[in-house]
Amino acid sequence: SDPKQTLSFQAEVAQLLHLVTHSLYSNREIFVRELVSNASDACDKLRFEALNDGALYEDAPNLEVRIAFDSDARTITISDNGIGLSQQEAIDNLGTIAKSGTREFMGKLSGDQKADAQLIGQFGVGFYSGFIVADRITVESRRAGLPHDQGVRWSSTGTGAFEVEPITRAQRGTSVILHVRDDATEFLSTWKLKSIIAKYSDHISLPILMRKEEWKEGEEGKGGEMVLTDEWETVNQASALWSRPKKDVTDEQYKAFYKQASHDHEDPLTWSHNRVEGSTEYTQLLYIPAHAPFDLWNRDKPAGVKLYVKRVFIMDDAQALLPTYLRFVRGVIDSADLPLNVSRELLQESRDVKAIREGSTKRVLSMLEDLAKLEKDEAASAEEKAKYATFWSGFGAVLKEGLGEDFANRERLARLLRFASTQSDEQVVSLADYKARMKDGQDAIYYITADTLAAAKNSPQLEVFRKKGLEVLLMTDRVDEWALNYLQDFDGTPLQSVAKGAVDLGKLQDEEEKKKAEEAAEAFKPVLAKLKDALKDKVEDVRVTSRLVDSPACLVVSDGGMSLQLSRLLKQAGQ
Ligand code: ADP
Ligand code: MG
Repeated sequence: SDPKQTLSFQAEVAQLLHLVTHSLYSNREIFVRELVSNASDACDKLRFEALNDGALYEDAPNLEVRIAFDSDARTITISDNGIGLSQQEAIDNLGTIAKSGTREFMGKLSGDQKADAQLIGQFGVGFYSGFIVADRITVESRRAGLPHDQGVRWSSTGTGAFEVEPITRAQRGTSVILHVRDDATEFLSTWKLKSIIAKYSDHISLPILMRKEEWKEGEEGKGGEMVLTDEWETVNQASALWSRPKKDVTDEQYKAFYKQASHDHEDPLTWSHNRVEGSTEYTQLLYIPAHAPFDLWNRDKPAGVKLYVKRVFIMDDAQALLPTYLRFVRGVIDSADLPLNVSRELLQESRDVKAIREGSTKRVLSMLEDLAKLEKDEAASAEEKAKYATFWSGFGAVLKEGLGEDFANRERLARLLRFASTQSDEQVVSLADYKARMKDGQDAIYYITADTLAAAKNSPQLEVFRKKGLEVLLMTDRVDEWALNYLQDFDGTPLQSVAKGAVDLGKLQDEEEKKKAEEAAEAFKPVLAKLKDALKDKVEDVRVTSRLVDSPACLVVSDGGMSLQLSRLLKQAGQ
């Protein structure tokens, strides 16, 4: 029987391929980054599996990536000696996209090729980027540990189907062979490939090798030319950036590392690189991105900080390293103390990990405090001054989760909060700003929660505050209601919802107003009793109020009660 099988791509993959090849045309070079990143992942996986089974290294313990091209055959080959693929893995991983992100990915394509090219890596569809420059891709692979005759060849033109067949392959790992399209000849060049590697893959901690070129003099009367030799040379930095001393790393290198590691096309807002010594030793290189990834709201998705132990990659979804509310942070933590075969379970319990987590949380908070300080720093550039606002618009709502999640740092978090208020539609008011503007005799920080800014601003509950010129914070993020439960006061001043209980404006109410209110309460007693009786199943109490100026009536909740906003949310959630 014919051992060759032809299989169809999942419908979504076919659709995706069409999109990728047609929409990323002006950013074709990213295929190098994606395929090198897969090669590097495959080497990381081998290293990790080999911790328990050293035999997987066979006779090639030095992990590396080789990139070669052949101008006559019009191929570019990217080879690694990583974990490799079994036949079934080739079918599963190169023919279907298991991750639910595909449809989302396609929905996100904006037409801005630069941004779209970025998405490819984020959504785990990087392999297919090869089809931007290739009209056929052949993958030859053998999984580490399998016999030589259990290799696999996978091949496709990137349209509806792909073929797989068994092959014999002595070398462990994977070769991806791109059959270069007629219009992509420019990539069949040492100079071109090297410059793309320098741009995207310099900080892969694995050596990337290419064949050396040599000048060959022409024959009598003819010019010379560069020719490929059989000698290989390393063309990237190939050292773990974070393990170098700070003074030897330039800002440009830090930024390039960030972009490569996090699949972001924008520079980070800031970063922090430290070697922590003491009872627990580790290196941290942490970045704050400038904008939110598409899946920021997915609290279960892999965290952005990769865990290494002595420069060996261990895992990239080590949620134990930072609290969930800091899930936007990207970077690397490299521990000198953890065992290499650390498991997820062990991570949860390790005292070292606990120390790393606390230390890294403090580090991130102080990075944010530094950004916030720039806002008011006379000497800072306009760009620097704007950084905290950029951070806040991308991640503020996530940071607020910390109020409920991280009691130990609640006060520091409270200082980092920014809100809209009756004085600003933008979320730029800090609690400290608010306090500084409080009126004489005002003894609480007032706030209101609502679905939208317009709803908050037009709430009848604000009338008396507006009349008295009192600032009220306007909270419209979905987490506000929940988060504010955890923030009873700021710097000794209580936070008070204007929609709860009898708002006592205390000293702010003058004697005459108080007297009027008392008289009104007295005069309206019979009316109130009637109203109460008529509404008895629907409300707890009916009161005369001084909080309204123009509106005849409003609903409020009792002091201990759930706010209207929260009860609406719960109702929506079917509770
Ligand atoms: P991602 O890298 O985000 O998983 P890709 O589309 O880049 O998505 O790759 C899809 C999958 O194909 C990988 O998860 C991996 O299982 C497999 N794969 C790709 N390249 C290699 C390789 N060089 N070695 C081993 N497996 C690979
Ligand atoms: Mg990939």
